[in-house]
Amino acid sequence: MRDLERLKANLVGLVVEDEPGLVRKKSRDFYWYSPILKRDLDHVTGDLVVSPTTEAEVCQAIAAAFDADVPVTPRGSGTGNYGQAMPLSGGMVLSLGGLNAITHIGPGTVTAGAGALLGKIDAATRAHSGQELRMFPSTHRTASIGGFIAGGSGGVGSIRWGGLRNIGNVTRLRVVTMEASPRVLVLEGDEIAKVAHAYGTNGIITACEMPLAPAYDWIDVMVGFESMERAAAFADRLGNEDGILLKELSVMAAPIAHEYFSAHGKFIRHDQAAVLIMVAPHSAAALDAFVRRHQGETVFRSDQISAEAQRTMPPLFELTWNHTTLVARRVDPTITYLQTLYPFPDHLAAVARMSALIGPEMSDHLEFIRFDGRVVCSGLPLIRFTTEERLDEIVRLFEANGCLVFNPHRYTLEEGGMKRSDLGQLAFKREVDPKGLLNPGKMIAWDDPDFDFKSERKYLFSAPAG
Ligand code: FAD
Repeated sequence: MRDLERLKANLVGLVVEDEPGLVRKKSRDFYWYSPILKRDLDHVTGDLVVSPTTEAEVCQAIAAAFDADVPVTPRGSGTGNYGQAMPLSGGMVLSLGGLNAITHIGPGTVTAGAGALLGKIDAATRAHSGQELRMFPSTHRTASIGGFIAGGSGGVGSIRWGGLRNIGNVTRLRVVTMEASPRVLVLEGDEIAKVAHAYGTNGIITACEMPLAPAYDWIDVMVGFESMERAAAFADRLGNEDGILLKELSVMAAPIAHEYFSAHGKFIRHDQAAVLIMVAPHSAAALDAFVRRHQGETVFRSDQISAEAQRTMPPLFELTWNHTTLVARRVDPTITYLQTLYPFPDHLAAVARMSALIGPEMSDHLEFIRFDGRVVCSGLPLIRFTTEERLDEIVRLFEANGCLVFNPHRYTLEEGGMKRSDLGQLAFKREVDPKGLLNPGKMIAWDDPDFDFKSERKYLFSAPAG
């Protein structure tokens, strides 16, 4: 039976906040991106926030929660956008921002506390030895490394390095178990998959060792095309061009760039589709030639504007990935989005087919990534929201046309992912969280093993009383 008073008594010496306004604030993430999650999760709040600064304090907080039967939801910076860090059962929000030390930088590797911000890690590795993280979400400035591993999937850098869950893209993790006497496990190799993208349901990551790549002064480039088809075909060819080193490659249908990019919009016409690129300086001339070969128009290059102008403009990557939806929503709050993967090798045909099928309700946004060694395109299309039924209908249309949908309007691992349980993560949860106290409601396989993913039923978690 949950006992909050007993919990508090065992948290002596730790930073604990229980002022309801503050706890509510730290119980939120970017769930409001989705009108469905906004409606379904708006009431969610924890009972208290605990902010450890060492692994020993994490163990103390976890042991206290286990003893008092109180659920624990880990939190990095709260930038996840599917309610991943929201405590559906209330209880303790474990805020890991204080575990932010960068403890080791070596050739090709960095080790940092789970709460360290990605931007801070990159600044340190650059200054130390001219290295940088292989990939980061477009929330580079604000997201934590632990939150990225537990809640993210990839992003800027994925055109070269693939996704976060590809073996080798996270090299070692320290993880605290949810038991009477919490253990600290060190995971490497295949074991990383047990906790990567598990939304903190099966262990608290306290430290992360990540592989590094050589750092470059990446140049932001925006190329305009007369149609989405030509822009997508150009990007597909560019992504496969072995000699040009890229960090980011995304495509947006007109008029996304012109209408929604506050600083960069003026460089591109209303009727031009935009390709957004981060290129290494030594590849810039080759890129230029490649653009000319494909009759594109380079409308913006960050190395050709004044240093003063550069300082006042956001980096181009803050207009890609989920940031595209964010900047679009600032202009038009009725916009929401989907996350899709178009089937290889006919991905460009699938993009055109879906665009024709759905029509003006949708504006295409593609992110080109390396996936199992191939350059493929994922989509984050902007959708004008009308009703939940219509949104579900659009999801079904994508699926009926062979596209995978990672539904960003669901808060569970399975519905936001491959719509099947990850048995490795479930087995690990049984081992390290026997009472099921970590982030309840996010892993359907744990809560409702008989749930039928083939039915069109949406999973709705109801927190147990007590
Ligand atoms: P949080 O939101 O705090 O947590 C994310 C999940 O991880 C939660 O389930 C939480 O419980 C769990 N968690 C956090 N810390 C730990 C820990 N130490 N141990 C165990 N579990 C933990 N995602 C991408 O993958 N790529 C993108 O390009 C991208 N772009 C984004 C752009 C915008 C504008 C926004 C709002 C979101 C974007 N996201 C993207 C989603 C999100 O930013 C990333 O997943 C980010 O890495 C989350 O980090 P965070 O520290 O904010 O984690």
